[in-house]
Amino acid sequence: MTQSYDCLVIGAGFAGAVAARELAERGGKRVLVLERRNHIAGNAYDLPDEAGVVIHQYGPHIFHTRDRRVYDYLSRFTRWRDYQHRVVANVHGVEMPVPFNLTSLELAFGKEKAQRLEEKLIAQYGAEEKVTILDLRKNEDPEISALADYVYENVFLHYTMKQWDQSPEEIDPNTTARVPVFLSRDDRYFQDPWQGMPLDGYTALFRNLLDHPNITVELGVDARTRLTLHEGGVELDGVPFPGIVIYTGAVDELFGCRYGRLPYRTLEFRFETHPVEWYQSHGTVNYTVSEPWTRITEFKYLTGQELPDRTTIAKEISHAYTGAEGETPYYAIINPANNALYAQYRTLCSNLGQFYLLGRLAEYKYYNMDAIVARALSLCDDLLQRKE
Ligand code: FAD
Ligand code: UDP
Repeated sequence: MTQSYDCLVIGAGFAGAVAARELAERGGKRVLVLERRNHIAGNAYDLPDEAGVVIHQYGPHIFHTRDRRVYDYLSRFTRWRDYQHRVVANVHGVEMPVPFNLTSLELAFGKEKAQRLEEKLIAQYGAEEKVTILDLRKNEDPEISALADYVYENVFLHYTMKQWDQSPEEIDPNTTARVPVFLSRDDRYFQDPWQGMPLDGYTALFRNLLDHPNITVELGVDARTRLTLHEGGVELDGVPFPGIVIYTGAVDELFGCRYGRLPYRTLEFRFETHPVEWYQSHGTVNYTVSEPWTRITEFKYLTGQELPDRTTIAKEISHAYTGAEGETPYYAIINPANNALYAQYRTLCSNLGQFYLLGRLAEYKYYNMDAIVARALSLCDDLLQRKE
């Protein structure tokens, strides 16, 4: 009987699963989770493929955070495998660390010139500092400006065109700022104090998160088939639902895309299993000047799975999201026009009663996993303090 629930959560990714757990455990609420896919864990879902290699079906996920609360919270549901992600760019056959750093500088320009550039860069920006490519390109020193052009051309321009079908100047500057030039020899992709992989995988972490007597999960259910939205509230299965509703899907879909579709990029993952122990030199190799794919990830580096005779990789190819059956919206295309369209949809939700938008899709933002966990915890802090 659906009406025996206090709260409804739509989506069993990080946003939905953490919110459900908090409402159930801290708030003592009976929570129904509806998930459209036939599995939990959202885009973090992992599973063994046909060759027995553990893969991430919706793209490689590496956990990293500087938020102690998030790390401690998730540590209740998983142990961790220490893993520091390292990425190289394949630049005309030469592999150099990304983010572009002092080692990359030497590989690109040779020891002597690199030494001179390093001194100049450190004098201007400071050792161990991070500088975005767009800022570096503003530098007026001719040698630094030539270096910035090199990095722009060989690391950012073609990769960004493949990923977004737009140049680095056209996309939201926060996006390229995720991968700044790093005046360091630290060749890790992230510098967060806590990083790693769930020891038994993400799906196991989610199983533990959702394993609570107050939580019921129904898989393979598109919530839109069960919900009716009307002025002032929602109905579940045709009966007014008076409790909290947390929605973590794409907000335009809730309203039949009545103002037009929110633009997203989608990805095609080409999985390949090869009869070798290792396929490539690092967990991820970015193809920044060649090939139709942006990057190739070899999952065994991430998971630590030991298999001497086979390995599975995924090539990522980006496309415009059309909303066609089976396509997944992965990246919001953040710009003023799209944000304004999003705001129109958000306004429609504001008169649905206790209805909350939470998550990377529902908030139309470029959030990492840790940011979503933090947002779910903080929304539940607010909801549970509020007397109903
Ligand atoms: P999701 O995981 O998308 O979950 C939303 C869920 O809602 C889905 O399961 C969906 O099926 C369900 N749903 C939607 N609509 C409905 C409906 N109508 N009815 C029922 N269910 C519905 N972050 C990192 O921190 N590190 C990484 O390395 C990293 N790598 C990434 C790589 C890729 C390719 C992508 C796309 C993202 C990556 N992220 C990474 C980001 C990470 O995936 C997100 O931060 C996180 O998954 C967001 O969780 P969520 O719950 O908001 O969304
Ligand atoms: N980027 C790039 N070259 C790279 C790596 C990143 O141009 O080698 C740019 C690109 O625009 C990309 C953005 O930086 O979309 C963010 O990269 P990140 O690796 O954080 O993307 P994600 O893992 O979220 O796909």
